Amino acid sequence: MIAPASVERVLDAARIEDIVGDFVRLRKRGANMLGLCPFHNEKSPSFNVNVTGNYFKCFGCGKGGNSVQFLMEHEQMSFPEAIRYIADKYNITLEEVDASPEQKVEMLHREKLLEIAAYARKHYEQELWETQEGKNIGMSYFKERGFLDTTIKKFQLGYSSKERDSFAKKAKLDGFPEDHLQELGLINKYGNDFFNDRVMFTIHDISGRPVAFAGRILIKSENSPKYINSPESEIYKKSKVLYGLYQARQAIRKMDDCIIVEGYTDVLAMAQSGIEHVVASSGTALTEEQIKLIHRFTQNVTILYDGDPAGIKAALRGLDMVLEQDMNVKIVLLPGKHDPDSFIRESGAEGFLSYLEQNASDFITFKAKTLSEDSKNDPIRKAALIKDVLESISKIPDTIKRSRYLRECATLFDIDETLLVRELNQMLKKVNL
Ligand SMILES: [Zn+2]
Repeated sequence: MIAPASVERVLDAARIEDIVGDFVRLRKRGANMLGLCPFHNEKSPSFNVNVTGNYFKCFGCGKGGNSVQFLMEHEQMSFPEAIRYIADKYNITLEEVDASPEQKVEMLHREKLLEIAAYARKHYEQELWETQEGKNIGMSYFKERGFLDTTIKKFQLGYSSKERDSFAKKAKLDGFPEDHLQELGLINKYGNDFFNDRVMFTIHDISGRPVAFAGRILIKSENSPKYINSPESEIYKKSKVLYGLYQARQAIRKMDDCIIVEGYTDVLAMAQSGIEHVVASSGTALTEEQIKLIHRFTQNVTILYDGDPAGIKAALRGLDMVLEQDMNVKIVLLPGKHDPDSFIRESGAEGFLSYLEQNASDFITFKAKTLSEDSKNDPIRKAALIKDVLESISKIPDTIKRSRYLRECATLFDIDETLLVRELNQMLKKVNL
């Protein structure tokens, strides 16, 4: 726990114009500052930063508060997260108190691991930008894929050298204990590097701290998988992290939508072309925790997967979970053999967005379309399909939304709506028993 005295120090140090200024462009007006409100849509600024009073206030939507409240509201930070953000900004060392000895050890341990992950991130970036091997192999790969320097920097991409222990050697020399390096999966039990001869993707937590890595192999190999990932650790729980969320969070809020894709490079390609509200579930099926993370920023999710059977299955799996969180889901499948990366290269950002707009279907239509193909003219399979769709509808907590979908379902399948209502009620009863 952060010591109350430290919290006080942070609150005293926080200048509202600095904190808000990190996210909103402010202009001086008299003693105060003025900008466009980040909490509501406006064309003429009514968002006031009162420098003497050290608070913000919007005369348009009424939102107001101090620096911590701004961060909590605007960045969806928790109170301690906001305090830490400000402490970082002003170089204030936070004192931890009141935690039990065990908690203290654990927190200290976590901090150590985070420090090592940050160190590793820097190492892989240096290998990419500063070594001949990194430039020749890693950088040429990223350039070949069309990634610009700004994208490579923004996502903190890196390179791990062919040398067996290039990272291990350096890290140990810099005093990082071997067991910690192993715990993060950065070195193996023989003391050698886990990531070798791969381009590196840094995986960040929601505050932008590196917590894990994914390494992509560049030469096709029978024995090595295309991607390897850091194992789970105290700072990295796969199910609670979304690749690119840290970089995308403001765009998600602004667009009020979050596009979920499958791969790291899909996120990079889309973000680079200006579609920034994109995250990847990176190899795993979507989890409830990931959906909850997104829910902090928007209620709307667009699932964008490859049009192959595996992609369709993955999309259907993610679906019910999003519905349970009372979020709105749209699904888009890409044409032919495209993935988002290749598609955006071919069609450009505008073509891409218009494709999304034209082809996004809500989940009923999606399920019906994809599944009805194989239940055509087969009444038994059609009944099963309807049941399947009703199952999904039953996951929606909001009754009004539920009945809207029911009506749509009735029209789509050309069935009496009351019949569907009865069936759905039975399902709901079963769940509640
Ligand atoms: Zn406002």
